[in-house]
Amino acid sequence: MLIGCPKEIKNHEYRVGLTPTSVREFCAHGHQVLVQAGAGAAIGLEDAQYQAAGAQMVADAAEVFARADMIVKVKEPQPQECAMLRPGQLLYTYLHLAPDPEQTAALVKSGAICIAYETITGPGGGLPLLAPMSEVAGRMSIQAGAAHLEKSKGGMGVLLGGVPGVESAQVLIIGAGVVGTHATQMAVGLGARVTVVDKNVERLRQLDLVFGNRIKTLYSTTQALEEQVLAADLVIGGVLIPGAAAPKLVTRAMVRGMKKGAVVVDVAIDQGGCFETSRATTHAEPTYVVDGVVHYCVANMPGAVARTSTFALNNATLGHGLALADKGWRQALRDDVHLKAGLNVCQGHVTYAAVARALGYTA
Ligand code: NAD
Repeated sequence: MLIGCPKEIKNHEYRVGLTPTSVREFCAHGHQVLVQAGAGAAIGLEDAQYQAAGAQMVADAAEVFARADMIVKVKEPQPQECAMLRPGQLLYTYLHLAPDPEQTAALVKSGAICIAYETITGPGGGLPLLAPMSEVAGRMSIQAGAAHLEKSKGGMGVLLGGVPGVESAQVLIIGAGVVGTHATQMAVGLGARVTVVDKNVERLRQLDLVFGNRIKTLYSTTQALEEQVLAADLVIGGVLIPGAAAPKLVTRAMVRGMKKGAVVVDVAIDQGGCFETSRATTHAEPTYVVDGVVHYCVANMPGAVARTSTFALNNATLGHGLALADKGWRQALRDDVHLKAGLNVCQGHVTYAAVARALGYTA
């Protein structure tokens, strides 16, 4: 199969669909790979590395889209990319179609077969192609929080780990899923005092087994949240109710009662956020202040560490990508119910029930 990897064109997107390592794997399976020149340059993946791995470099995206049987990307195709897709062509990337009627209509019109990373399921449950980005965001949330606790960034001037003889910062992590687990690991590593709340006791049990008495775990109730939010220097919001907007667990009144110069990092902002006071921000202007509390609500946190995120994403996408190339999409989907769950649009039809329901198509 001829695999194509264009340069991402969404604003401030530096990740790339294929690393040279992934290109080498596709070539070893007998496939050919076209990569747009400069596709990975922003994160130190040079054209020469792609060529050494077996890729053919082409000057522009139009050639990649015109020639490739399967397009491998990171972000949802932008309108000009949708217009270059053709009937029967395979698109393998993040799509997030439910809130995006224009993109959905464009993909339906293209006649392409569109497989969304975010709906591919895993044998152990969960969404394995989404998890790496939650791992990145969870770990980053503590870095971002620690930085914004500094005076120059508007924070109260507290060092997360303290020093001998001076108390460390109090970190509250709401949600003990992928984001929460990785935030916990970083916060504990930096020497903070950490409390984790979740309404799923099994998740708390797993964290307790790993971190023992280095963390405190609490069942998520309004009272627990109220008490912990008021005591915290840094609060991380990492809750998720699959398929729904994030619950507003931290109210405006709770924020008003927080310490001045405390920091909240609302990782769940991509689902609307779990603080009543949250609104999405960008890497260019990541924070704003409400009632003296610094809010960091960047909706695409992994974009800031595009190199790490690219490698993490490739680790998660390569296996299914190879299956699609080796077997062709029909057989690959027939053989793997989890990969089949990724099929969102197929040759003019929306095939993913939740997207069809949300946008008024018949699946
Ligand atoms: P996850 O499903 O692994 O974990 C979510 C956790 O929230 C679960 O353990 C669940 O029990 C818990 N939860 C649900 N309701 C709760 C409540 N009322 N109180 C306490 N806990 C509750 O999800 P995840 O992968 O950790 O993702 C968390 C959020 O982070 C999602 O919204 C995801 O989209 C978002 N995310 C954002 C970015 C970003 O750049 N901002 C990046 C990656 C992920």
